Amino acid sequence: MAPPKSTRLLRSSQVAANRRRSQLSAQAVQAQSVVTRSQTSSAPSRSTQNGSGPSTSNQNVQQTKSKPVEKVPTVFDAGVCDIVPTELSMTEIETIHQTKEVICILDTSGVFTPASSARIPIVKTIEARIPYGCLVANRGQELGSWTRANTADYPGMPTKYFSIEDLAKYGGEDATWTIQSVFENPNYPEWVITKYLGFDASTAWDEEKQDVFGKFPHVEKWMAMKKSFLAAIMTLEPKNLVDAGVKRERFLEDGLLTNKENVFWIYQEMSYFHSFVNRNHGLSPVWYMNVKNLDEPPKFYYSVVNVIEKKLLDEYQKQEEGLQHVKKIKQLTGKRTACENPDTCVCDSIFEYYNTKDRDDEELPDADEMVESFRKNMRPDALGCLDFSGFDADDQRMVVECSDACGCSINCPRRQLQRGQKFGVVVYYEDDCRKFGLRALEPIKKGQFIIEYTGQILEVEPEETGIIEDRDTAYDAEFAIMDRRKVVNAINIGNAARFMAHACTPSAVFIETHSRQLESDPLIPRIAVYALKNINIGEEITISYFRKDQMLKNKEGTKCRCRARCPNYLPIYTYESDDDME
Ligand SMILES: [Zn+2]
Ligand SMILES: [Zn+2]
Ligand SMILES: [Zn+2]
Repeated sequence: MAPPKSTRLLRSSQVAANRRRSQLSAQAVQAQSVVTRSQTSSAPSRSTQNGSGPSTSNQNVQQTKSKPVEKVPTVFDAGVCDIVPTELSMTEIETIHQTKEVICILDTSGVFTPASSARIPIVKTIEARIPYGCLVANRGQELGSWTRANTADYPGMPTKYFSIEDLAKYGGEDATWTIQSVFENPNYPEWVITKYLGFDASTAWDEEKQDVFGKFPHVEKWMAMKKSFLAAIMTLEPKNLVDAGVKRERFLEDGLLTNKENVFWIYQEMSYFHSFVNRNHGLSPVWYMNVKNLDEPPKFYYSVVNVIEKKLLDEYQKQEEGLQHVKKIKQLTGKRTACENPDTCVCDSIFEYYNTKDRDDEELPDADEMVESFRKNMRPDALGCLDFSGFDADDQRMVVECSDACGCSINCPRRQLQRGQKFGVVVYYEDDCRKFGLRALEPIKKGQFIIEYTGQILEVEPEETGIIEDRDTAYDAEFAIMDRRKVVNAINIGNAARFMAHACTPSAVFIETHSRQLESDPLIPRIAVYALKNINIGEEITISYFRKDQMLKNKEGTKCRCRARCPNYLPIYTYESDDDME
C-alpha cells in the first residue's frame, strides 16, 4: 500500500524543484563564497547572491545518476517527499490519519511471514533507516564524500553527507533542495543562514530572508517558533546559564560552519528527521535543543507507534471477544458522550466492560478486588479536553476513544490519542543531573491531549521464566485497567514523550487509553499524556512516576530533584540516569 499521496504535496515539490533548477549554479558559487565568508567574517557578497553571478559551473554540473532509494518502509519510516508544506489542510490530515501506521508488529519467529500492510507493518527485526522520503539525505548517504565520525550509532540518521566538493557533481538538474536548519544572521537582519538536508554544515550559506520565506513559507514559521521558544527560555532559566547557548541556536557560533563534526549539527539533524516522520503522520514537530553544553544528544529508535511482539498481541484476543460481545448488547449512553454521534457511540459501554467487577476474565486484572469508584471514565468534552477537577493522582483513570463502531469521523472529540501528538515539543537539556526533559513549543491548555507515550509493549514478568527481568524500568509506563502484566517501555524505542521527567507536582499525567481507529485494528492498551495545568511555551512537561504512597515510604531512596528543595525521596536505589541505548 502506498503512503498517503497528497496532490498539494506533490505539486509543491514539483514547483520547488523547478524553482530550484534556475538557481543551482548560483548556489554552488554561493556555498563557496560563504565558506570564505565564515573564515574571514566578511559581509555576504551580494554579487553572487542575486542570481546573476557566474553561471559557468552549470556546464560542469553532471546529471545525477544515483539509484532511486529503495522503498522499503519500516516502522521508523514515513513520507513521500522532502518538501515541507506550511500547513497541512484538514483533508490532507484526514487522509494521513486513514493511511498512516497505527502499530508495528514484531514477528521474530522466522516461521510464518504474514503479509504486511502500511497501517499495520509486520517486521522481523527492529532497525531504523533514513526515511525514504528524505530524498537528498538518502542520496547523500549513498554518494556523499564526507563521513561523520561520531554518528555511526544514531539510528535512522545519515553517516555520509554531500560536501562542497560534491556540490557541482550532485547538485544537478534533478536535485531536490530541502532546508534542514535556518539561523539568523546577527549582522545582517535581512539575511539568514540556511543549511540544506543531506549536505554537511560547511555547505551552509547566506540567503536573503525574503527569498527563502517566499520559496519556503514553513521556514518563516520555524524561525518564529524558535524565537518565541528561546525568548521564553531566557525568562525561565538563569540568564548566565543559557545566554550563550540561546545565541548559538539563533545565530550559530564562530566556527560551527567549519566544524561540521560538532554534535550541534546532530541535534539539528535529529530535529529535522524526527519532525519529518511526525509530519508524515500528521503530527506536530519535535525539536532537540541543548543550550547548556554540547554533550551528545540521546540515542534511541524514534517511533511514533508502539511496537509489540506478535505472541504478546495474541494475548489480547480474549479481551477482543468480550468487547465484541459488549458492542452487540450496548445500551444507550444517555448522550453523556461528547462523540459527534452520541446515539451510536459505544465508548461508555466499553468502559463499563472494563469496569465490571465480577466478570470472568482472567486476562483482566483482579477485577474483584477493585473498588469500582476508583476507576474513572475520563470523557473528553466537546473540545476534546479532560476534566481534572477533583483529580487524585492515585485514581485509576481511563479514556475510551471512538472507533468505526461509533459512527463518527476521525475529527470526533473522543479521538484525541489516535490523531496523535498535537503540540510541538522540545527535547531540552535540563541539567547534568536530570539530563534531557521535555518542554512545550506551543502553549497547551489544561485538559488537552499532548502526546502518546510510545515504546515497546513488554511483559512485566516474561512467561518463560516468571522472573522479573533485570532491566531498567525507568522508561516503563504501566497499565492499571486493561492489562497489568504489560508495560510500554521506551528505553530503546519511543517518541519524545520518553523524555518527560518526574515531578512531584507534575504538569501532565498518563492516561490509560483504549483507542483504535478501526475495530479490525489490533487491540492494545495505550498511554496518552494530558495536561494537568496550562503549560506555556518553554515550560516543562512533567509527570509523576510514582504513586503518593511510594514516595512517602522511601526515605532511604534517592532525593528528588524535581525542583529546588523538593522534600521527597523517590523509590530509586541504583538507578543511573542514562538516555543512551543499552
Ligand atoms: Zn466519536
Ligand atoms: Zn465512541
Ligand atoms: Zn520532587
